Amino acid sequence: METKLLPADDAGIALACTLLRRGELVGIPTETVYGLAANALDPEAAARIYAAKGRPSDNPLIVHIAELSALDQLAAERPPLADKLAAAFWPGPLTMIFKKSENVPDATTGGLNTVAVRMPAHPAALRLIRESGLPLAAPSANLSGRPSPTRAAHVLHDMDGRIPLILDGGDCTVGVESTVISVGENGVRLLRPGGITVEALSRHCRVTVDDGVLHQLKEGQKALSPGMKYKHYAPAARVILLDGDEAAFAAYVNAHAGDGVFAMAGQKEAAALRVPALPFGDEGEEAAQAQRLFDCLRECDEQGARTVYVRLPRREGVGLAVLNRLLRAAAFQVVPLKEGSDEAER
Ligand code: AMP
Ligand code: MG
Repeated sequence: METKLLPADDAGIALACTLLRRGELVGIPTETVYGLAANALDPEAAARIYAAKGRPSDNPLIVHIAELSALDQLAAERPPLADKLAAAFWPGPLTMIFKKSENVPDATTGGLNTVAVRMPAHPAALRLIRESGLPLAAPSANLSGRPSPTRAAHVLHDMDGRIPLILDGGDCTVGVESTVISVGENGVRLLRPGGITVEALSRHCRVTVDDGVLHQLKEGQKALSPGMKYKHYAPAARVILLDGDEAAFAAYVNAHAGDGVFAMAGQKEAAALRVPALPFGDEGEEAAQAQRLFDCLRECDEQGARTVYVRLPRREGVGLAVLNRLLRAAAFQVVPLKEGSDEAER
């Protein structure tokens, strides 16, 4: 199959609508990461997403809508708090989980009786949903296990020959996937951190952070957000997280310099390093870190990195999402460099 790469303009959107109505797949820009979109109400179209990504069939898809009223046909019920949060954060990177209606096929929800829904903020994504008249199931447009795509070129790299069309809407501004929450009567449970932060949600309701956000699930423990149980976001290189200040980070990385050794670092951090640094963000620049994260992880492979060192990000704001993704890319290995703690790299 030939894969076309077109700008997300009138002609691109028109072709995308035709393909989506036929049950085909289109790579689309969103503000979080690029999505691999299909008609969420067509089980065959949803099945094509799993095949193109090589995605395990129990890993549910997020359904994207452009009007709040579209929720009525997807969710069997919704707590009043969901409407309050939708008013505050949609369009934007917040995904809410609802009991699913009969219209939503099992193929879209990975067999779950719940459905995840969000309203993206990217103008091209909103236009595509409106003009196609379809709710769009769209997981990240990467091959399963690879870092999520934040540029059209990343999608082409993974999906060339697998899908008919990719729309280029520029680099993603948020850079990490949406925040996923389940909504109760009085509060929410955070299943996956993302662009809408715990701090922002906490201004509206009580927020419980699920155990799976920062810890590896134990044998037999059920993943409430199924995507979080898979090895994820990993480049071929070994990602090693270092927990320490800027000076300790530089000292440790420089002592381990060698062939194929790289770092992901902000400008300030990079100045003290004697290994090649992929441009990330410094401490306090969590939004820049999120925006750069997946491009850096992909760049590791382009540059033939064997080991890449990253300083543990702060947990504040979108830093929690960066930490969540880095922990998975590093298979939860963190080397403590803080005073009083043992260096524990194996
Ligand atoms: P992706 O769009 O590739 O980031 O994947 C969507 C992720 O959203 C899944 O891997 C799950 O972690 C989460 N998700 C989607 N639907 C549900 C659901 N019904 N219940 C819980 N989590 C969900
Ligand atoms: Mg994904």
